[in-house]
Amino acid sequence: MRAMRQAHKLYLHTGCDQLRAGHPWVYRDADVRALGMLKSGAVIDVHDATDRTFIARGLYDADSAIAVRLFTWHDQQTVDLSFIRNCLTRSFARRQRFLDAERTTAYRLVNGEGDDLPGLVIDRYEAFAVMQPYSTIWLPWLRELAEFTCRDLGLRGAVLKNRIRQVRDEVAERGLAGTLCGESMPDSLVIREHGLEFIAAVGAGQKTGLFLDQRDNRFAVGKLCRGQRVLNLFAYTGGFSVYAAIGEARHVTSVDVARGCEAYARRNFELNGIAAERHAFVVADAFDYLARFDGEPFDVVILDPPTFATTKKQVFSASKGYQRLIQAAAQATRENGILVACSCTAQIPQAMFVEIAASATARAGRTYRLIEVRGLPFDHPTRAALPESRYLKCVVGTLE
Ligand code: SAH
Repeated sequence: MRAMRQAHKLYLHTGCDQLRAGHPWVYRDADVRALGMLKSGAVIDVHDATDRTFIARGLYDADSAIAVRLFTWHDQQTVDLSFIRNCLTRSFARRQRFLDAERTTAYRLVNGEGDDLPGLVIDRYEAFAVMQPYSTIWLPWLRELAEFTCRDLGLRGAVLKNRIRQVRDEVAERGLAGTLCGESMPDSLVIREHGLEFIAAVGAGQKTGLFLDQRDNRFAVGKLCRGQRVLNLFAYTGGFSVYAAIGEARHVTSVDVARGCEAYARRNFELNGIAAERHAFVVADAFDYLARFDGEPFDVVILDPPTFATTKKQVFSASKGYQRLIQAAAQATRENGILVACSCTAQIPQAMFVEIAASATARAGRTYRLIEVRGLPFDHPTRAALPESRYLKCVVGTLE
């Protein structure tokens, strides 16, 4: 009841229906500014200004365009540490339902809004948790939540990973950097994914984690590669490449512009007992590589570039970027080959990405026949009311 007594009441004139349907963000508009100066973490009760009814309860975020992050739509529910702990427990249970713990030891434990913990991401790498707060509202609770996570799941330790500047500054002030509890995380460790092994270097100060969101897409694509020559562009540490090779690809070429990736990719091939001759790593810009490509077209081409846009304003240039890339990749794909095009740009919804792929391949004089349109795996659940959080698209089809 304490938090309820302290709650600030916010009366909204717009957007109430969306919030009632479960959209978890209140943007910083005129209604919010009327609240005056508040500290991050202040409890806010959101009401409909027209009939003054309660909609939801959340926490104020002083440092973000999202002014209030909603936690509960139940008037009686207090937002406090014990409530948050319950959300964590439910979040862990959601994974247990679908997880094959023997075969997969790196996955997302908490996916922010999708697990009713807005702005908090926790990944598990073997016996360690990597906590990634995207909002300063989490910082007062972070150590306790790390301890709770380790205790609840029997982990050896938890580290903090900063993803955004506002968080970084406050983390330094609060002396939270690095290990949050338990043992410090080793510089690198080997994790399992669908029974395959990968090296991950995610501890404090390390950069090379894994893109956990692509796990099931890598698995699905690997199964299409039997006997094929595969080109994996934006390969990073060779995730798709290893699955392709295990799927009995005849040969895999990985291309990435970052020099450091090659050694990791080589190690990942070794870990899975794949002969080095079956894999070539090219350090190059993927656009340049495709522009210069004049060899025999590949049977399977995979594209998994980093995001091309972080704001709505960049959508136009991002879609042009995808057009150029897919058109060029089509030219490196043999007739009746397979093209896998991924996009992690949240501002480009799935339908738009499929349209881009259609027009880009048509420009290359080809027909793109879709087999599957894939997205996020089970450990990245999202609220149905927040469709833009389903950022990952993975379009698989034959290129005729
Ligand atoms: N498919 C990978 C993840 C790719 S992340 C996996 O499943 O693990 C995107 C990668 O694109 C990064 O490794 C980055 O170094 C690389 N990259 C970014 N711009 C590039 C460019 N212009 N050409 C080639 N690689 C690029």
